[in-house]
Amino acid sequence: MIELESVGKTYNGRGMPVRALMDVNLRVAEGELVAVMGPSGSGKSTLLTILGAMNPPSEGRVVIDSIEVYGLRPEKQADFRHEYVGFVFQQLQLLPYLTALENVLLSLTIARLSKAEKQERARQALARVGLVGKEERLPYQLSGGEQGRVAVARAVVNQPPLLLADEPTGNLDQATGTQVLELLRDLNVAGQTVIMVTHDVRAAAYASRRVDILDGRIVSS
Ligand code: ADP
Ligand code: MG
Repeated sequence: MIELESVGKTYNGRGMPVRALMDVNLRVAEGELVAVMGPSGSGKSTLLTILGAMNPPSEGRVVIDSIEVYGLRPEKQADFRHEYVGFVFQQLQLLPYLTALENVLLSLTIARLSKAEKQERARQALARVGLVGKEERLPYQLSGGEQGRVAVARAVVNQPPLLLADEPTGNLDQATGTQVLELLRDLNVAGQTVIMVTHDVRAAAYASRRVDILDGRIVSS
């Protein structure tokens, strides 16, 4: 499904280049739940955003379902990202003045569906993450774990083949973090390919595979 070939990434730091990834080779098959682990600054988020068609590598190739992602023209790349990838960010990034339902609907803004269909899809996504009856709540009226669930619902409402999560438990206490991990595992059991970045050792227990990254290199997979 996903193949990274000799991928490298160098950022232009202030006058000094920062090599965030070096010679990364990785294959992920459909249906895997991969935990990418490593210390802060090791290149995990860079790897995830490269996988998500939102950060072009400096070297190497990224092929997803036979499509060379960074060979696409910018607008095609955006279409690809929209159809193919759901992303859960660490700072869950729910909009505070929108309800749970409206936050999920944001992901369907450009979908070619009627308003009623969008509403129905968004309600189904919230139901999948166990939030029936809480659709009209604002984020502050939800617990941390529930906010995490809304973020996951928003990422999967388009039914993307690939779900990427960057430190999905990073800002949550232990119990709510576990809820989010269990949700990702349940989605994975239902067929969703998931790649999550974490430095939470508990998360590895939920993964079918663990990839360790250190100083921009994969050290075990
Ligand atoms: P992690 O997610 O494992 O903490 P990152 O992928 O965020 O690591 O960062 C890897 C390295 O790249 C770090 O040294 C970081 O400072 C640097 N870096 C990340 N993003 C940028 C950027 N936009 N510009 C410059 N340097 C960056
Ligand atoms: Mg990071």
